[in-house]
Amino acid sequence: MASSSDLKAYREQVREWMSEHMPRTDPEHPWDPIHGDDDRALRNRELQQLLHSGGFAGICYPKEYGGQGLSIEYQQIFDDESASYDMPMLFSVPTLSIVGPTILEFGTEEQKKRYIPAYIRGDELWVQFLSEPSGGSDMAGALTRADRDGDVFVVNGSKIWSTYAYRSDFGLALVRTNWDVPKHRGLTMLIIPIHHPGVEVQQIRMVDGTVEFCQEFFDDALVPVANVVGEIDDGWTVATRLLFHERAAVGGASPYTSGQYRHGGEETQNVLRGLVHAAGRSEDPIARRRLGRAEVLRVVQRQLIERVRTGLATGYFPGPAGALPRLFAGMAGVERANLAFEIDAERAVVWNESERGGQHGIAYIRRQASCLGGGSTEMARNIISERILRMPREYAADRDTAFSDVRRSRNV
Ligand SMILES: Cc1cc2nc3c(=O)[nH]c(=O)nc-3n(C[C@H](O)[C@H](O)[C@H](O)COP(=O)(O)OP(=O)(O)OC[C@H]3O[C@@H](n4cnc5c(N)ncnc54)[C@H](O)[C@@H]3O)c2cc1C
Repeated sequence: MASSSDLKAYREQVREWMSEHMPRTDPEHPWDPIHGDDDRALRNRELQQLLHSGGFAGICYPKEYGGQGLSIEYQQIFDDESASYDMPMLFSVPTLSIVGPTILEFGTEEQKKRYIPAYIRGDELWVQFLSEPSGGSDMAGALTRADRDGDVFVVNGSKIWSTYAYRSDFGLALVRTNWDVPKHRGLTMLIIPIHHPGVEVQQIRMVDGTVEFCQEFFDDALVPVANVVGEIDDGWTVATRLLFHERAAVGGASPYTSGQYRHGGEETQNVLRGLVHAAGRSEDPIARRRLGRAEVLRVVQRQLIERVRTGLATGYFPGPAGALPRLFAGMAGVERANLAFEIDAERAVVWNESERGGQHGIAYIRRQASCLGGGSTEMARNIISERILRMPREYAADRDTAFSDVRRSRNV
């Protein structure tokens, strides 16, 4: 347990270093680390490298793999102090907070030494290859196949919705290695190099013009057996932990997520206050009520995250409790987008390029993404009901059937 004087000294150290080295977020035009044109991935790398040079990368990672070896209290201080700076959140999620802890738990010593220091330094970016064109919620129904041939796997199939895969270096992929057993028992987690023969990445242009999502096509891609994370055919055990880390990261409860993602923190409140003020609605009771509502969301979300984070760390809460902040983050994300859209009124609907209003219109259009990315809120509700509240499990016709015998739509 860190002493309060150590924590105080650390806070001062972070504050001083951040103010000297990191770019401050422009409150008028905040930089969005995730959405937008493709320079974002490069800037994320540069920012992560900067944090590493200052000794603030991988705060909760063990020292032997290039981290700082500090406890979560230090990470929380860092998150508070970094709130008003541009942060490499693309590195934070999924590389450091989802892929990283999964490799820490299941990777071989060789894998840990090879990969962890490289992404803490900001040299290599990872992506998750989980969702497939046939669906993302039923992850265990993966159709991408990996057939063993000596000391390599021959990978064929397709993954989709991988954020910035074209700018990333490796994908952590759930693939099917055994078709003769029920679906959860024939999966393997594989590290797939992205810029590699047999791997083709296509960017998907969304209606808002962004191109961050990708679809990958694997055509006889040869991947060494040494790239298996965990055991062959036991990828579901690894995937279950990966999903745990994913829910913690998306819900804000992961010790490995570095920096607050702007939506939901004090920054969001400042943006909303600025909108109310700019619209001349500071005395308008409806606008004030909406601001109040956003503040309630902020306070409740922060307390929920802290409670679940502490509960998971002490063992008071079971692992699936990570679904609670994940669900809240999705719902709150939608509501915040609604509130900003309503407050910004016509500027969110009609704007020209030089105006700020458009960003709330676009955020409104894509607000549902916060309920899908990182596993949908419906799936989070299933987990809460089945694994926390112990309600009866959802019926699954394919649970005990060999995967090759499971009936599938002709299109997949
Ligand atoms: C911003 C963002 C980033 C993403 N990044 C990645 C990434 O990097 N890598 C990656 O692999 N994927 C990524 N995804 C994909 C994401 O994981 C999937 O969108 C998600 O898992 C849902 O899968 P789907 O879209 O195929 O919907 P489907 O699985 O087809 O589901 C459709 C709808 O049915 C609901 N549903 C499905 N099954 C059930 C059930 N059993 N009970 C109740 N409701 C159910 C779902 O909640 C959803 O609303 C990202 C998505 C977004 C929005």
